[in-house]
Amino acid sequence: MVQVMQLSLFLMILLSLSCGTIPQDSQIHSISWAGSILTLFGMATVIQFVGNREIKAARRDHTNGIKSDAASRLDRNLERCRLASIAAVVISLRYWGLAEAAADLPWVSQSLALQSLLLLTPGTLLMIFCLMTAERFSAHALNTPTNTFPFLIRSAPKIRFLLGTSLFPILMLLGFVDLIRNLPLHDSYAAILNIGLVVIFLILVLPRTAVRFMDTTPIDGVDKKWIKGLTQAAGLGQIDVAIWNTNKRNMNAVVVGFVPQFRKLLLSDQLIERLPRTQLAMVILHEAAHLKRRHLPLRMLSIIPIWGTAAAISPWFETTQWFAPTGSISCILLTLLTLRWVAHRTEHDADIEACRLATSLSDQFNELPDSFEQAGRELSRALLEVTSERTSSRKSSWMHPGVLARISTMRANREKAALLGIS
Ligand SMILES: [Zn+2]
Repeated sequence: MVQVMQLSLFLMILLSLSCGTIPQDSQIHSISWAGSILTLFGMATVIQFVGNREIKAARRDHTNGIKSDAASRLDRNLERCRLASIAAVVISLRYWGLAEAAADLPWVSQSLALQSLLLLTPGTLLMIFCLMTAERFSAHALNTPTNTFPFLIRSAPKIRFLLGTSLFPILMLLGFVDLIRNLPLHDSYAAILNIGLVVIFLILVLPRTAVRFMDTTPIDGVDKKWIKGLTQAAGLGQIDVAIWNTNKRNMNAVVVGFVPQFRKLLLSDQLIERLPRTQLAMVILHEAAHLKRRHLPLRMLSIIPIWGTAAAISPWFETTQWFAPTGSISCILLTLLTLRWVAHRTEHDADIEACRLATSLSDQFNELPDSFEQAGRELSRALLEVTSERTSSRKSSWMHPGVLARISTMRANREKAALLGIS
């Protein structure tokens, strides 16, 4: 529905890992632990300062009875901090030589999983620190009894989600790759086994692990029957539905998993509680549309040509010094641009498909609007409602077009549908 993985987290993982793959010119740099630690500590201090400043601003506004925009400002500044954290991590890994030091440690040099753990730790810690700062703000900014719940406990589910959807799956996959590397196998067999492992991992293991790290409870009663009926009518077959517990603080919906038998539709507690049935149905149909139109595999496949081309041409440039860094940077940039383009297009497509689905299913479900126009209006209302508490989330982001752009695309298509005589 709305953003799950931030651009900054994706970039942090990609750049941290590539710091370990590009060979270091050891004649230029010597390893400095002090430099590394000071860089990371300096970044953490900046994040702390940003948090403190907005907490003070929010309290001041609260005392003066002014509507505060400190929360939106904090969101914006924390995103900047996350991007700056990536720079700090790269400086610490590359310039101060932390990546090289990690690769030289006994045991670590033999294991891809351990190397990645060390490479990803600084970035993960800074991301967690940003997340805790946001929680600290929610807990202390208003200073009201409902907000005194210790922010550390409130941060725990989000930290768990962050680790479960980024660090943990990567380490698990590389752990398996390490195991295969140690088997007495011919290189080509090992390569086939590795490809098979990645496929099985992406299809079966990753979705289950991600769900395990999220706080979910099974949905039951009338809701379950209604939602299952709706997803089935939308052509998704049997799909597991669960409530995603967010302490009633998030309004979001997501489908996890590729294979129908292992798929799960997660609807956040707040989404089920606050959205009227019609809007909730539109949100569910939007998720169903992503699956029906195979948007997730499409997003993943879209980046294969980039990395495939890079891998195919790399043997010709093996001895060229500039190829590895330039190639990595161009691949990362192209990946980001391609993913953004595909993600934005598929998001608009899912909105339009959801409106079409609603009209075609409206005779089976009373809650569903019976015209494209009305369906678009209800989905637009739902989008505005899920982003009402954090208006900054209405803006266009890496993987999601802005809410207003989505609404106007639905409106434009409504006009197209009207011209073609489709209700
Ligand atoms: Zn979507």
